Amino acid sequence: MSETRRRVSVVLPCLNEASHIRESARKVARALEDAGVVPELVLVDDGSEDDTWEALLELARDLEGTRALRLSRRFGKEQALCAGIENATGDAVCVMDADLQHPPELLGEMVRAWRDEGFEVVEARKSDRGDESVLSRLEAKLFYSILRRLSGYDLRGASDYKLMDRKVVDAWMRLPERNLFFRGMSAWLGFRRKEIPFEVRSRAGGASGWNLRSLVRLAITGITAFSSLPIHIVTLTGFLFLLFALGLGAQTLYNFLTHHAQDGFTTVILLVLITGSATMIGLGVIGLYVSRIYDEVKGRPRYLIADRTDDGP
Ligand code: UDP
Ligand code: MG
Repeated sequence: MSETRRRVSVVLPCLNEASHIRESARKVARALEDAGVVPELVLVDDGSEDDTWEALLELARDLEGTRALRLSRRFGKEQALCAGIENATGDAVCVMDADLQHPPELLGEMVRAWRDEGFEVVEARKSDRGDESVLSRLEAKLFYSILRRLSGYDLRGASDYKLMDRKVVDAWMRLPERNLFFRGMSAWLGFRRKEIPFEVRSRAGGASGWNLRSLVRLAITGITAFSSLPIHIVTLTGFLFLLFALGLGAQTLYNFLTHHAQDGFTTVILLVLITGSATMIGLGVIGLYVSRIYDEVKGRPRYLIADRTDDGP
């Protein structure tokens, strides 16, 4: 172990975690102490509606090296992570869920891989998705395989439980985008990485903050932020329809010139339906990207901090 103990920050995004956040935070702090580093806990309240903020205030007062931030409303997990990372000061920053689904016992191993083996990103990879339903397993599988085909990043099993060296955190903070997809951004960064498998536990208490809508939104962000292939597919489909139209046009003309033109209704209806739907899909996909561009050029802050227990940067 080195002479001066290194400092490791852990960022915990919290949405309605009042029932167990005290216990989680203490476990995390203890795991870091055991690993021989100085803990800094950055607790971010993502607009909780229960007593999470009171619990965080209490922790910031009682637990050494703990700071709490309260976002002005619910911004979403990615934004809460971002707020925490930007306000963390350790030599390494680790992000994990506040519900103990990411086992704190792994922290020791992660710290050793970073401090003693010199890895710059240590990622805990899900070897098992815990007690998730068959349906959500299937959704996750579908999403990751689409994303891998489209963007070339293999994120299967990737989790938001990872430790990053200060270097990596500084590089991450230079990515300016507003549409955050933490897992993808961290894969894009590169650096020397190590993966540690872990099994997802069941929640320590409370309920999952995700629903189908927020998951679909995250999936769309993930795909549009990391691939422009959908737009190219639209163009390609356009060309295919053009070929089809040319063939059909030639046949129609031939029929017309040889005075066989009649009963064309089937063709007309089919053509109207096909071109109509193709145009709509195309416009929709382009709209998706335009809305992302719109979000980015507005240049709004990713999150707003309403309260904090430290003096700020
Ligand atoms: N979370 C958050 N904002 C959200 C949703 C979730 O800060 O909009 C936090 C939540 O408090 C937890 C972590 O993100 O610490 C993971 O959330 P959850 O356990 O609900 O997700 P799951 O484990 O079901 O994927
Ligand atoms: Mg969870």
